[in-house]
Amino acid sequence: MSVKPNPFTIAQHQLDDAAAILGLSPAMHAFLRMPMRELHVSIPVQMDDGTYQTFQGFRVQYNDARGPAKGGIRFHPDETIDTVRALSAWMTWKTAVVDIPLGGGKGGIICDPKSLSRGELERLSRGYMRRVAHFIGADKDVPAPDVNTTPEIMTWMLDEYEVITGRHLPGVITGKPVHMFGSLGRGDATARGGIYTVREAAKLIGLDLQNASVAIQGFGNVGGWAAKLSHQMGMKVVAVSDISGAFYDPAGLDIPAIAAHVDQNPRHLIEGYTAAGMKPITNAELLELPVDLLFPAALENVITADNADRIQAKIVAELANGPTTPEADQVLFKKGIYIIPDFLCNAGGVTVSYFEQVQNAYNFYWPIEEVQTRLEAKMTTAFRAVHEMAQVHNVHNRLAAYLVSVQRVADAVAARGWVK
Ligand code: NAD
Repeated sequence: MSVKPNPFTIAQHQLDDAAAILGLSPAMHAFLRMPMRELHVSIPVQMDDGTYQTFQGFRVQYNDARGPAKGGIRFHPDETIDTVRALSAWMTWKTAVVDIPLGGGKGGIICDPKSLSRGELERLSRGYMRRVAHFIGADKDVPAPDVNTTPEIMTWMLDEYEVITGRHLPGVITGKPVHMFGSLGRGDATARGGIYTVREAAKLIGLDLQNASVAIQGFGNVGGWAAKLSHQMGMKVVAVSDISGAFYDPAGLDIPAIAAHVDQNPRHLIEGYTAAGMKPITNAELLELPVDLLFPAALENVITADNADRIQAKIVAELANGPTTPEADQVLFKKGIYIIPDFLCNAGGVTVSYFEQVQNAYNFYWPIEEVQTRLEAKMTTAFRAVHEMAQVHNVHNRLAAYLVSVQRVADAVAARGWVK
C-alpha cells in the first residue's frame, strides 16, 4: 500500500533545496525549517440534538518576520497538523514572492462540514474563534477562507472576535463579503492574477494570446474565472472540466453559456451542458491536449512522472496548489514547457486579501479599477523577479520562486537579528 507523502516533509525538502543554492547559514536554515508558533485547540460544540461534540483545531504561524501571519482556515475531515504546517510554510513563501508585508500562517479544524447543520457550523466557527482570538489579530495573524470555509463563516468569526474584544476590527480576517467590509475584486483575484502572469510569460516565449488555445481543469471559483477571463481576453478556450467530466471543442467553447449553465445547475457542475461540436473527454486527456496554455485549477498531483512527457502545452499556469510533482517538474523543464509555479501564479487571491486589510485599516474602500491596477502591478513585478532569478541560477521557475521568497524572508529574519 502506498503511503501518502507527508506535506510538511515535502515543504521542508523544498526549503532545503533553496537554502543550499542561496548558501543560507545552518542556523538560518534550521530556523526556517520550523513554524515559529502553533496553537492546538479543543472546541466543544452543542449539536442540534442537544449532545456535545469536541472538535480539534489548529492555528500555525509559520513565520512573521515580514509582517503579520496570513493564511486561510480549512474545515476538513482529514486535516492534520502537518498539513497545516506545510500550508503555513507555503503561505510564507507566497506572501514573500509577491512582496506584500505579511508572513505565513494557516488554520484548520478536523470536521466534515457536509455533515453539520448550518447552526452547528456557526457554533463551531464561533467556538474556534473564541479559542484563537488572543492568538490572532490584524497586527499578528489574519485568517481567511480556504477549503470548505466561506465569506459567511468569516463574518461569524469576525463578529465573535469583535464581541470578545469589544471593538470594531474588520481587518482581523479577510475574504469577508463586500457588504461586510470585504474588498471588491476578491472573487476573480486568483484567476486574474494568474492571467497577468500568463501575459508576461507569453511575451517572453513570443506567444500571441489572441486566439491562443486554452485548456482548464476545474470550473470552480478559480477555474471558472480563468475560463471567463481568458474568453474575455480573446483566447480560445477549447477544453474545460470539473468533477463531472471534461469537455472539448477544438473550435472553441461558448464559455458564457457554460458559465450560465454551471450557475443554474444546483450542483454547480458542467454536467448536462450540450453543444454541437463539443465532445466529452476525460480529465486526464484534457491535460494532454495540444494547446498553447494549460491551467490546472482543480487538484494537486495531476501532472506526474506518468503523464509529464505527454503534456503539450507551451505554458502551464498552476492556479491549483501543487498540481505538478517534483519528478514531473524536471520533465516539463527539459521539454521547454514554461511553468508558472503555483505560489506565484495563484498569489492574486492573497494579494487582494492584503488590499482588503489595507482598506479595513483606513476604513476607506477602493473602486474595482484601483484593486485591479494594483493587483496587476504586484503580479507583474513578482513574475519578473522570479524570471530573473531563474536566468541567474539556470533553474526552473519553481525553484527560482523559492529562491526569491526564501531570500526575502531570511533577509528580514537577519535584519531583526533573530538568526544570522
Ligand atoms: P472550488 O472548490 O471552487 O473548485 C474546484 C473545482 O475542481 C470544481 O470545479 C470541481 O468540480 C473540480 N474538481 C474537483 N475534483 C476534480 C477532479 N477529480 N477532476 C477534475 N475536476 C475536479 O475550488 P477553487 O477555490 O476553485 O480552488 C481550486 C484550486 O485553486 C485549489 O487547488 C485551491 O487550493 C487553489 N487556490 C484557490 C484560491 C482561491 O482564491 N479560491 C487561491 C489559491 C489557490
